[in-house]
Amino acid sequence: MTEPVYRGRFAPSPTGPLHFGSLVTALASYLEARHHGGQWLVRIEDLDPLRDSRRAATLICDSLRAHGLMSDEPIRFQSQRHHTYETAIAHLFEARRAYRCHCSRKQLEENGGHHPQLCRERSLPADGRPHAIRFALQEQTARWHDDLLGAQVQRLRAELDDPVIRRKEGFYAYQLAVVVDDIDQRITHVVRGSDLLPVTAHQQQICLALGHTPPNWLHIPVIRNRQGQKLSKQTHAPALDDARPERNLWQALAALNQSPPASLQTASAARILAWAGDHWRRNRVHPEPGTHQLR
Ligand SMILES: [Zn+2]
Repeated sequence: MTEPVYRGRFAPSPTGPLHFGSLVTALASYLEARHHGGQWLVRIEDLDPLRDSRRAATLICDSLRAHGLMSDEPIRFQSQRHHTYETAIAHLFEARRAYRCHCSRKQLEENGGHHPQLCRERSLPADGRPHAIRFALQEQTARWHDDLLGAQVQRLRAELDDPVIRRKEGFYAYQLAVVVDDIDQRITHVVRGSDLLPVTAHQQQICLALGHTPPNWLHIPVIRNRQGQKLSKQTHAPALDDARPERNLWQALAALNQSPPASLQTASAARILAWAGDHWRRNRVHPEPGTHQLR
């Protein structure tokens, strides 16, 4: 069996129900996968038991289904994958790319919010005290090509702190889990919101340190409300109305600048997705953030 050339995914954190901004991202990643004749997976990134809820995860899955966005494989839940993240951390320790960090919030604040290099240089053994685990970035410039935004350059240690990969509370961090699962699920293309652009260099480095080739990235502009805030739970973005998937999908296509015909507004969700799959042009997506008029 030959490997598919395109495997994409949509990987929300279940902090609340899907809102219009997350639908736009889900739809863009779905259409990119369909356009390339590839597969599209859904993964629930429920790593933080203090923040994530099972109910929100259920609502997200229901909402995707209502909009016809069906995962080609069973939906994966990161809360069931802790052993894999532990193995990855052991591998990073062996490769001398992970270290224990005992820094308190206060110490970080005193250092201008940046992580001092002390922990990294000391490379402390486990001594029973609570500690975070950080990934050691290499001193180099990260470069990658974004499929929408073009050439990207990020200076690593000068601009970015070594990311936490396991938190002091013992939770695995997003930065690690997202890379481990993208590797494990053989994801070739990541389409996600541009709010994650700044952490791409971290993920590129972690992926390389784990011995794998990073995926292609495409960052689409996040949708903002009239106040200019990113639509999110924190900015009180309303939940999608699952009873009106046609309207939501049509508006999401318009937000992605795909110019859906007005006649499609009364079509079924399946028909809108079929039209969108045939007419998807990622280069039409405007790289600047879009504004969504909240109703
Ligand atoms: Zn530290």
